[in-house]
Amino acid sequence: MVTIPKGTKDVLPSDSYRFQYVEQKAGAVAARYAFREVRTPTFEHTELFCRGVGDTTDIVNKEMYTFLDKGDRSITLKPEGTAGVARLFIENGLQNSALPAKLYYITPAFRYERPQAGRLREFHQFGVEFFGSASPDADAEVILLADDFLKDLGIEDVELNLNSIGCKHCRPKYNEALRDYFRPHLGELCETCRTRFEKNPLRMLDCKETRCHEIAANAPLITDYLCEECKEHFETVKELLREAGVSFRLNPNIVRGLDYYSKTVFEFVSTAIGAQGTVLGGGRYDTLIEHLGGNPTPAVGFAAGIERLILLMQNTGIPFGEEPAVTVYLAGMDEASRKKAFALCAALRKAGVAADTDHMNRSLKAQFKYAGKTGAKFVATIGSNELEHGFMTVKNMTSSASENVSFENAVDYFTKGV
Ligand code: ATP
Ligand code: MG
Repeated sequence: MVTIPKGTKDVLPSDSYRFQYVEQKAGAVAARYAFREVRTPTFEHTELFCRGVGDTTDIVNKEMYTFLDKGDRSITLKPEGTAGVARLFIENGLQNSALPAKLYYITPAFRYERPQAGRLREFHQFGVEFFGSASPDADAEVILLADDFLKDLGIEDVELNLNSIGCKHCRPKYNEALRDYFRPHLGELCETCRTRFEKNPLRMLDCKETRCHEIAANAPLITDYLCEECKEHFETVKELLREAGVSFRLNPNIVRGLDYYSKTVFEFVSTAIGAQGTVLGGGRYDTLIEHLGGNPTPAVGFAAGIERLILLMQNTGIPFGEEPAVTVYLAGMDEASRKKAFALCAALRKAGVAADTDHMNRSLKAQFKYAGKTGAKFVATIGSNELEHGFMTVKNMTSSASENVSFENAVDYFTKGV
């Protein structure tokens, strides 16, 4: 038998309702904040991610699913959502229509990583992108949206980590300070960090190798190097969050995994799902659109990992609403009553009632067992006596109470009465 590829997952009916629940909460909170959905292709030209995610990132260096298509084009399965949405924004001229453009997406993402709990090769993200505003209000708004989203899901046990990583004016000075700090340790650092030392020293703070991590712990802090504008921007973001009652921890070690971030960066981190604790991360990326060939357009956004959110909710016993089940299961006994059950079932469904009936020619006992297993709220039994007198016996599966309901009243009973 051909089995599922490593790092991917089947979603069974007992899980899919959890995805639907999280995605429905995502769409609802996005709508409340006036964000509208966009969908971009699952694959893009590889160059989009090299330029849009950045060639000093783990994503581009190690994790992309890249291949040549039959026309010899280099294609990549999207490893994240922002680059595609930024391309969509530019290519469809959204920069020339009403700004800000407030967009959200729910997408699969593909990264060649070592699979473990909360780390898959195909996973899903909910993300928002706020294009067109350089104001700290926009940063605060997407953080508030993220905070509301997590609260709507019932997730309390997460901490918002906040940092500013400066801009093109103050970062060069900080990069120099970082190089000065790391230079004497170059021999002890991993290959990747040595490359980053040249290209983008900030990214060295994000290395997961133990020795690199230890050395990075005493590196100079970006917050000591921010220019006036970045400082003021950061102060306002913090003030807006405090005013909105959102608590946060200042964490100067957060630099985020993508190259294009500037100013505000943030992560919501949980302690309940082990090492892969970051459920949602984002920040400002004022240079991305220009870098991809659009008009200079400030932007801020975030992405949340849906599987990680589900894992966190399951680990902390947070419910996902009610598992879907039919309102009524119609059980027939002989050929004539089964036909009636089938017809009533169809009528109920047309009237908007979730209903099911037997398709396996099972005994009444077996039908009850199946109805119980699948969580039907009522079982309506039709035997020859019922058929003759025009009613069904409706059993409430929770209370076990039974009552007779005439065929004529069946639709009314289930649309109005229960
Ligand atoms: P990590 O540090 O855990 O590798 P990241 O910085 O690579 O995360 P982002 O690129 O910011 O993650 O993606 C946003 C969110 O997507 C993460 O916070 C996480 O919840 C989720 N995510 C990222 N990679 C994976 C993966 N391989 N499997 C499942 N979820 C993931
Ligand atoms: Mg990663």
